[in-house]
Amino acid sequence: MIVVGAGPAGMTAGMYGVRSGLKTLVLEKGISGGLSNEAPEIENYPGFNRVGGMELASKIKEHVSRYVEIRELEKVEKIEVSSNELVVTSDKNSYHTRAVVMSTGTRHRRLGAKGEAEFAGRGVSYCATCDGFFFKNKPVAVVGGGDSAVREALYLQNLGCRVTLIHRRDKLRAERYLQQKLVDAGVTIRWNSVVKEIKGDKVVKSVILDSKGSKGEGAESELPIAGLFISIGEEPNSELAAKMGVALDANGYIITDKSQRTNLKHVYAAGDVTGGVRQVVVACAEGAVAALSAYNDLL
Ligand code: NAP
Repeated sequence: MIVVGAGPAGMTAGMYGVRSGLKTLVLEKGISGGLSNEAPEIENYPGFNRVGGMELASKIKEHVSRYVEIRELEKVEKIEVSSNELVVTSDKNSYHTRAVVMSTGTRHRRLGAKGEAEFAGRGVSYCATCDGFFFKNKPVAVVGGGDSAVREALYLQNLGCRVTLIHRRDKLRAERYLQQKLVDAGVTIRWNSVVKEIKGDKVVKSVILDSKGSKGEGAESELPIAGLFISIGEEPNSELAAKMGVALDANGYIITDKSQRTNLKHVYAAGDVTGGVRQVVVACAEGAVAALSAYNDLL
């Protein structure tokens, strides 16, 4: 069995694959851990009161590596399906295999604001844990109203940044628990506001906001900031799956049944690329189920 992607789902699938008796290999285009590496804190993975995303990912890697080989920096480029085998071609090798688990995760959604691409890496970031340190004691803004945006805002405020959360509505989508933490931390919120433009010279200096007032009237304003953290959700990395004929839903997520089977024989999917509840505990569980389904199907 070949597992494509070594986030929590893929790593767990690898371990369950080997333990159930399948010769298994996990291929990862970057480093293990996926987007969980970017989570500042995880407080709802059972057994850990609070753990950094990177710490949890590295513990999972250390654990599963006792069973399965993870080949990092090996990018899968093509998967061909034939009647009794699958051929997985990476930038380094070609593998003939009986089963494939797609656990390719998601990537950060782009805002589409003017200046976003121009200032990427020069004040525009998609990961507070990766880049927050450079903005210590400086004014920054986070865009979004979900769990990720609130977590990023809290992390940055805790680092000593002066944080404004910019949200397009007047209600947050984030867990109540996190919303309360945001209020307690004193993060400023700009409600009903969208980022129209990111401005600066070599680095970001400000954002132009389009805001709606209580009577629905529009107003434009400029907010001086040194950094803009965009946290507006994810998009699935499902292009490889689509090319091999795996069925996707309207948002591009891989469709699976409860056993993590896709529409293709001996092709399974697990973790964020299948959509639904995006939590490490769910990704791990789906990885385990996918591997056990492969084992049962190949018996
Ligand atoms: P999300 O829940 O999809 O939230 C995305 C946020 O960005 C929403 O508030 C949305 O606004 C806003 N948004 C989307 N497109 C936008 C645009 N073009 N311009 C401005 N704002 C835009 O994404 P997420 O926060 O990344 O979370 C994804 C999943 O991971 C969720 O299931 C979440 O529970 C989970 N997660 C959980 C934790 C945790 O600590 N438990 C941490 C991180 C992630 P609207 O509200 O108006 O739609």
